[in-house]
Amino acid sequence: MYFKHHKSYLLVAFVFLFFTSVLNLQAQNSSKKQFVVVIDAGHGGHDPGNRGSGYYEKHIALDVALAVGKELEKHQDIKVIYTRKTDVFIPLHKRAQIANDAKADLFVSIHCNAHGSSAHGTETFVLGLHNSKANLEIAMKENSVIYLEEDYEVTYGGFDPNDKSSYIGMTLMQEEYLDQSILLADFIQKEYTNKLKRVNRGVKQAGLLVLRETVMPSVLTEIGFLSYKPEGSYLNSSKGKSDVAKSIENGILNYKKSLNLNLFNTPIEINEASSSQNNKKEYTDNYDDITFKVQVAAGSTAIETNPYNFKGLQNISREKEGKYYKYYYGATSSYKEVQNFLEEAKKAGYENSYIVAFKDEKKISVNDALKTKKD
Ligand SMILES: [Zn+2]
Repeated sequence: MYFKHHKSYLLVAFVFLFFTSVLNLQAQNSSKKQFVVVIDAGHGGHDPGNRGSGYYEKHIALDVALAVGKELEKHQDIKVIYTRKTDVFIPLHKRAQIANDAKADLFVSIHCNAHGSSAHGTETFVLGLHNSKANLEIAMKENSVIYLEEDYEVTYGGFDPNDKSSYIGMTLMQEEYLDQSILLADFIQKEYTNKLKRVNRGVKQAGLLVLRETVMPSVLTEIGFLSYKPEGSYLNSSKGKSDVAKSIENGILNYKKSLNLNLFNTPIEINEASSSQNNKKEYTDNYDDITFKVQVAAGSTAIETNPYNFKGLQNISREKEGKYYKYYYGATSSYKEVQNFLEEAKKAGYENSYIVAFKDEKKISVNDALKTKKD
């Protein structure tokens, strides 16, 4: 009797340990794989935002933010974090901190515009020095909410939202993420413009405090002018809110899709012997001044070119071209050898990879490269 009990305790303990460790592993894996999006509804609590045409920016921003998040949450590989889910006041620096603490992949702040004129339409901001008076005005307006915070002089290092000179010395920690932020802003604006036929005021730069301290691609989207009555009433309607939310959601999804690199490969054992680059064959079909490479991937993120990130492929190089980083496998002046590289890349899982050619570090067509051979 005693032994029997003892055994079953052991069994229970073992089963318990087994399942908790499996669950832990699963939790770790799923949190690793998820793309983390922070949705920031502007204003809140004792900060109503603008009151154009009598509407409340804080309520519209929150409804849109919750709708965007609700849709994104349906994607298993996306984790949504809200800076606020209710009508509460959150200081600007706290919003950035929430995103940084979550090691988010994206930060999207949602606001509504207002102006004394009949200005209307949508615009999406990335952090930068304003290049027009209008952009500076928007930054001043959105930043002035810090006056509602206690100790704002200390928190923001003497930054005064209404003092133009404050903006000149503003450190732009977002520089590193600028390309990606612009890419996201552009995807969102395209949705508003092409799908909703809204007036497009474009992608702009301004010294917005809420974007200043985030360490990930970050945008602030102004979904329209409450002060322009027809636009204000549209944005305050449930149709308007759900239209705009859909646009922001699609913009985020398109951005995510554009990062077509599979960053979350499980570790791959690298078989040194199988790499052709270690058993060098001699190729005789060399093209002078031409370098052939195999393009395996492109994306707006700079990724370490180690084999771990590239399905075990060694000798990956990275080049920045326009907004994108291009990733190449191999480098040779032999067209026969690059065809072998292409085969290896495809075997490794880069089925859509293809050969590219460079002459004096400039990309030329493979056909032109092959024509350079004199004999
Ligand atoms: Zn606002």
